[in-house]
Amino acid sequence: MIFSHYAEYDRIFEELMQGEYTLNERESWVRMMGTWVPYPFQNNLRYLPEADAKACVDGLVEAQTNSSGAAGASNFGEFIDNVFGEGIAACFMRPYNFKVWAYTPEKLNKVWIGERVAVIDWQRAKRNVEEGIDDFGWGPNNRFKYPLGGTGDFYKRFEPVVRDNLRLNTRLVSIDAERKLAVFEKDGERTETRYESLISTMPLDRLVCDIIDDAPANIRGAAARLVHSGGYMIGIGIKRPCPSTKSWMYFPEANCPFYRVTYLSNYSPNMTPDAKTHYSLLCETSFSPDKPEDDETILERTIAGLENAGLLEEGERDDIVSTWVMKVGYSYPTPSVERDEILAKVIPWLEDRGIYSRGRFGMWKYEVSNTDHSIMQGIEAVDRILEGKEEQTIGIVYSVTEDGRTAANHERPSVAGSGEKRIGSQIETKDVTAVGDIREATISEEELGVTDR
Ligand SMILES: Cc1cc2nc3c(=O)[nH]c(=O)nc-3n(C[C@H](O)[C@H](O)[C@H](O)COP(=O)(O)OP(=O)(O)OC[C@H]3O[C@@H](n4cnc5c(N)ncnc54)[C@H](O)[C@@H]3O)c2cc1C
Repeated sequence: MIFSHYAEYDRIFEELMQGEYTLNERESWVRMMGTWVPYPFQNNLRYLPEADAKACVDGLVEAQTNSSGAAGASNFGEFIDNVFGEGIAACFMRPYNFKVWAYTPEKLNKVWIGERVAVIDWQRAKRNVEEGIDDFGWGPNNRFKYPLGGTGDFYKRFEPVVRDNLRLNTRLVSIDAERKLAVFEKDGERTETRYESLISTMPLDRLVCDIIDDAPANIRGAAARLVHSGGYMIGIGIKRPCPSTKSWMYFPEANCPFYRVTYLSNYSPNMTPDAKTHYSLLCETSFSPDKPEDDETILERTIAGLENAGLLEEGERDDIVSTWVMKVGYSYPTPSVERDEILAKVIPWLEDRGIYSRGRFGMWKYEVSNTDHSIMQGIEAVDRILEGKEEQTIGIVYSVTEDGRTAANHERPSVAGSGEKRIGSQIETKDVTAVGDIREATISEEELGVTDR
């Protein structure tokens, strides 16, 4: 889905796509307790069985009147309890977030959520249950774009623009950061390239631990503590007319492996051979050391999960005409409790050597890691390198060293004999969830199913 928080990104999208995209009304739902609850979840609790709806409302009221709130939470787990209360935490927030992140919410920080999600109106949630009011989050004012040829179509349109400087299937294998020398490999052949500034979008932990030969132990150690999850993206093509107008759905329960399923064929008529007779589903399942998944059985468990969740009817699996399994090692940059402290060490060390790590896993900031954010991180990095402009999206504040110097690279650390240079500038990170010049839901609101617009 094309989410945009930037007029500049909209301009790029329009210029490259030349109108070849669809505009879709979002219609998203949560599947639980054998029923469908419309999004945003907290506004439509009346769709739950009565006792569960009551427990959710009671918990919400209790949390919002008697807890220390978002401000009093020291991690995402506490945030869930303080903001949503026991009922919503137990039936939706905790199980759903474990399925998405593949880590318990106590391992995550609360910074990625930002300020806006905290504003949940318990009075409205309660009134909707008591008076039986539908409060859906979709409509003509809440539409999203999708390229007619699929997401890849957008990326392909950059190719003519950058063709002369593009080298594909060429792997960066090592960097000598002091000498500013990068080594690439293609078809077994290695080439060396000198650079002044280097922008890297590969995962930050791999860049520091595997690629930069002269990264010191403390910087490697810090980068190695970054946490991520992987994902299976599983496509199912079915030779039947599409049974639903839904966009995407959230699945908190254990009767299916996926956390989210998309009716991809509803986004564009070109997603199946014939939109009248076929439809397709995209199912996403996360994995991590804390939540291992089995490669061998993931496809069958996905299909069985679609049956359990009521998406495939009895016998419908016989009409599956195509399946597609993609395992992605890095899919979510986990906003772990230690993340910002790690970035504050690693990013300045790299930048002092002309290396700018940017993008979803380059900067590792989930809250600014969608396509629009990633593209703007690239634009802003170039503007900084060439014109000295300040970057807005990465949410990093640079400060000088304690003794007031901005470039103290030559100084020795207090630990004698280590030979390591002192980092010239330090950083602190600030909330960037509401970055950009267009008012849009933050990605945490999308992810949590609580956007209220
Ligand atoms: C499941 C999922 C769903 C998503 N849905 C959406 C959505 O609906 N809307 C949205 O806006 N965004 C979405 N995103 C986010 C979007 O995919 C990212 O924002 C975007 O791809 C990030 O771009 P990037 O350039 O930072 O990183 P990437 O696209 O990951 O690019 C990094 C590149 O570096 C390459 N690389 C790595 N190591 C090396 C090496 N040693 N040498 C050379 N190259 C290397 C990789 O092959 C890769 O091509 C989704 C992401 C995921 C995982």
